[in-house]
Amino acid sequence: MIIVMKPEATQDEINHVNERMLGLGFKTNVSKGEVMTVIGAVGDKHLVETESIESMAGVKQILSIREPYKMAGREMRPQDTVIKFANGVSVGGDSDFVIMAGPCSIEADPNLLFQIADTVKKGGAQFLRGGAFKPRTSPYDFQGLEEQGLKHMAEARERTGLLIITEVMDSVEAPMVAEYSDVLQVGARNMQNFKLLKAVGKLNKPVMLKRGLSATVREFLLAAEHILYQGNEQVMLCERGIRTFDSTFTRNVLDLAVVPVLKRLSHLPVIVDPSHATGHRYLIAPMANATVMSGAHGLMVEVHPDPDKALSDGAQSLMLDQYLAMMANLKKVVAFQKELTMPECLAKA
Ligand code: PEP
Ligand code: MN
Repeated sequence: MIIVMKPEATQDEINHVNERMLGLGFKTNVSKGEVMTVIGAVGDKHLVETESIESMAGVKQILSIREPYKMAGREMRPQDTVIKFANGVSVGGDSDFVIMAGPCSIEADPNLLFQIADTVKKGGAQFLRGGAFKPRTSPYDFQGLEEQGLKHMAEARERTGLLIITEVMDSVEAPMVAEYSDVLQVGARNMQNFKLLKAVGKLNKPVMLKRGLSATVREFLLAAEHILYQGNEQVMLCERGIRTFDSTFTRNVLDLAVVPVLKRLSHLPVIVDPSHATGHRYLIAPMANATVMSGAHGLMVEVHPDPDKALSDGAQSLMLDQYLAMMANLKKVVAFQKELTMPECLAKA
């Protein structure tokens, strides 16, 4: 429910209502507007008589949240979620555009990863990506180095100061993967693995949730809702392409319109991954530029020094010089995009 406070409500009255809802086991979000304060509350409605809240001092009215994704939606939390990391990097809201780059899979030679890490840092990335637990379509393909790969990632972080993002596939392994990483990635194939969503929702670690191969926006936001509902509010959404009728020239279809859609419906940060969306190296730079212009908060790309020998996703991995060239251009696009202002009549169109 949305509890709308009177414009003249005092701070004590606001606190009192908020504490009452928390005491009833609700999760709340207090948002102070220019004129009035609104308290979003999600919980078991049967535990509370609406009239008893409505009659509390300072309360103007009670509305119900219409969106099914109550905690992910903007009705409950109008202000953008900004995820802050210990090294000063933040994601979401008006924070600087972030780059997550690295190999698809972490491979046996740690020096290969360190070489990639040095390059992605040089190009301006804040996060090193790399999979140790790989969700492969075929059981005959490389399945990942598992914990050994996470150790390589942790060493790369020590050497470079980059933040680490890596995939978690299993709810039991989630706490272990969280120990090595700064962001847990839930992959497209696991978007509706509800046990996994609940497990990462119980951890105090940011999560990047990738859109399922054929997931609607509603399903995507409800999957994020599972994580939020468990208490983990540090969730980012990642568009990585969806299945349509034609995959002749692109692996998937990059749904860039979903970026402003998600930003309108939800306060959560939005990242775009053109590597898995397009499947081809030559499409990454144009789609990265378009990602910035779409208003996304960040980009994830795959990078490999010798993609022909990569153990997974070589065709969509940028070579190191290509990554650096893309980044040099992208910085100009980011600066250009920052200068744009969205006129009110377009923002509300
Ligand atoms: C990945 O990022 O390595 C990956 C497997 O992506 P997705 O889940 O989007 O296919
Ligand atoms: Mn990949």
